[in-house]
Amino acid sequence: MGKDIYSITAKHLVRILSDPKFKRNVQELGDLECPNEKSFAILQMINSSEYIVGDVEEGSDDCSHGEGPSAFDFGLEYGDGQDSYFLFALHSHPTGNVTPSIIDESGGDLLALSNMRENYAMYGGLAVRPIEGVVGSVDGKTIHILLIQEKTKTPLAVPFLRDYEDLDWRYDAKPEEIARILEETKGYNAIPITMHNKRLLFSDGLIDKLKKFEFSPTLTTPTEE
Ligand SMILES: [Zn+2]
Repeated sequence: MGKDIYSITAKHLVRILSDPKFKRNVQELGDLECPNEKSFAILQMINSSEYIVGDVEEGSDDCSHGEGPSAFDFGLEYGDGQDSYFLFALHSHPTGNVTPSIIDESGGDLLALSNMRENYAMYGGLAVRPIEGVVGSVDGKTIHILLIQEKTKTPLAVPFLRDYEDLDWRYDAKPEEIARILEETKGYNAIPITMHNKRLLFSDGLIDKLKKFEFSPTLTTPTEE
């Protein structure tokens, strides 16, 4: 690919987090009236800063460990997968907590994130570091978003999550606590963000924290003839 590859910076991530549609979507994901899981994704162009915030899709149940119901259909509307990739995939937990689900080797939020990265590398010929967002609210006013990203060279989620399986962190853990545990594994970057009364509360040092999420997509297609 002769064109310039657009590098994802903390500033760019803040631009997306501040996007009016992003905020509206998060609001919708935190809506307590809906018992079903909802999701939306953000498609990033490989060669430019341009991105598309997708519409919110509603799942048919409260399953909190699936991937976005139609994220990939949405992606296909905008190209053949060669010129864009999913930078963010966000979904709601109708129960209100933002603990990423860990099922076993067959599923869960963290495994879905891993699979997404693997699939891009394997089938898309692209090494990227997508960001998963888990959104939840217990009172409908304060909405929590936990942003999670795998660090570049980590094994699949499952092997080291076994070390954490006795941790009873699935229930009622505070977003800050979940982020700390994820960071402690050294396999993830994690940031809790709060939205209150439709405003995103950006904590001090957010830019510095988001710098850990920065990456440049690289092509992984074999170069030998
Ligand atoms: Zn989930």
